[in-house]
Parts: sequence; structure tokens; C-alpha cells
Amino acid sequence: MKKNTLLLLVAMNITMLCSYADEGRPIVSFCQETESIVESPIQQTLQETRKKLFELTHHDAVVMKNFDNFAEVLQVAFQKEKSMTVQEIEKICLGIDFAAEKHRFQTRKNKERTPYISHPIGVAYHLMEVGEVREASVVIGALLHDTVEDTQTTFEEIENKFGKQISGLVREVTDDKSLARDVRKRFQVISASHKSKGAAQIKLADKLFNLKDLYNNPPPDWTQARIDRYYEWAQSVVDRLPNANDKLHDAIKEIIDQYWEKQISAYTQTN
Ligand code: ZN
Repeated sequence: MKKNTLLLLVAMNITMLCSYADEGRPIVSFCQETESIVESPIQQTLQETRKKLFELTHHDAVVMKNFDNFAEVLQVAFQKEKSMTVQEIEKICLGIDFAAEKHRFQTRKNKERTPYISHPIGVAYHLMEVGEVREASVVIGALLHDTVEDTQTTFEEIENKFGKQISGLVREVTDDKSLARDVRKRFQVISASHKSKGAAQIKLADKLFNLKDLYNNPPPDWTQARIDRYYEWAQSVVDRLPNANDKLHDAIKEIIDQYWEKQISAYTQTN
């Protein structure tokens, strides 16, 4: 290749990369000494998924932050630890694309009405960052864990796109919406001990995310008593889950203890 053509290609790439700069930090790094671009095979895939999320959520800052944190863990798993393959990361990105599309019109219950996809991405992040889980099928199961329960998605659709193992995991963590809300919640407690390791890990990461979210950013219409009840209920689900991941269990214990400590000090201050 002629030198001019090569320089032009490098310049085009730089222009292309700079166009992402507005959408947050660029994922690609440069090696100044050789003027070449150091690009790992997963960076383009991550960048494309980031761009889709950026458009689908109308540039939501929380979603982009959650994605960037998750992408960083994926990069570490791929490049540094070599614990995940290109194909696995590509499939995880497909999982993000799929879940983002399915949840696109849904929001969380917090004051800011954050786009719902912030939750499954956060759950997958906790699974990898706190729980140190590196099984791609479990990570994808986490990304898809609310699609059947909360959208029109079917298990067959998930099986066709992601395979039997992942649809099986999603099935294990999906509540039966035909049951009344309190029956569903009770069923989560009594069925917890029968979960497979992967499903238990997803449930732990899901509970960890929700408990932290309730602690830091509770829905404005939830009373303190309702939050207390959620904490009690989550504790009873977690207590009955098989011991699938010590680190996730410890992190949940920590946030639950922190919550009750806060309630005790608020109570003693007002009495
Ligand atoms: Zn969830």
C-alpha cells in the first residue's frame, strides 16, 4: 500500500473515532510512537453497540455510564485476563442490542425515569465485576433476564437467537405474570433453593442492583415501610438461593446491613 493511501486511511479512522468523542470517552487508544491505531478485535463491536444504545435511549447519561463500566470489564476479561473470546463478547453485544430494543419504551421507577436498559446492563456488570463471573451464557442471561417478564419477548425467540442454555436460564429467573403480585413474590422465596448455579448468580446480581438502587435512588412514591418490606423480602430470597457466589452474597449482605444501620440511626435521631 502506498504511504499516502495509508496515511489517508489512518486520518479517516481518526475522523471516524473523533465523531464518537461527543458520545463519551473513546474506546480506542492510539500508539503515538508508531502512529498506528491499537485496536483490539472487540472494540468496533463495543463501539457499534454503544452507538445503538446512545440513539435508543436518547443519549441517557446513566445508561451510557453503565455501558462504559460494563464495556471496561469486558475489555479486561478479553485483553488482560483472556477469559473471554471475541465470539463471546460479540454474542454479549447482541444480547445488549436485543434487550435495549425490547425494553426501549420502558423506564425505571426512579425520579429521573431512567431508561430500563440501564438495569439489565447494570446487573450484567455486577455479575462480572463483583461476582467475577466469566461464563458468557450467564452474562447474556443477565442481560435478557427481564425481557420475557416485562416485554412481548417469548422463550422461543430467545432460544432461536441465543440457544437453549440461555433461554433456559431466562426461564428460571422469569416470574409467572399470570399470578397475583404477592403470590409471585412468595413463589420467588419458595422456589429459590431449586435454582441452578447460573440462575442463582443472575438472581443475586439482580437483587444486588435493586437493593443498591433503592438505597441510592428510591422511587419517589415508595414509603419507607415499602422499602423496608422490599429489603426483608430480598433477604429471604437471597437466604434460600444456593450458595452460587460468595462475592455477590457478601456484597448483598453489606448493602442490607448498611440499609438497616441507616434506619436505626434515623430512628434514634428522631426519638
Ligand atoms: Zn431485574
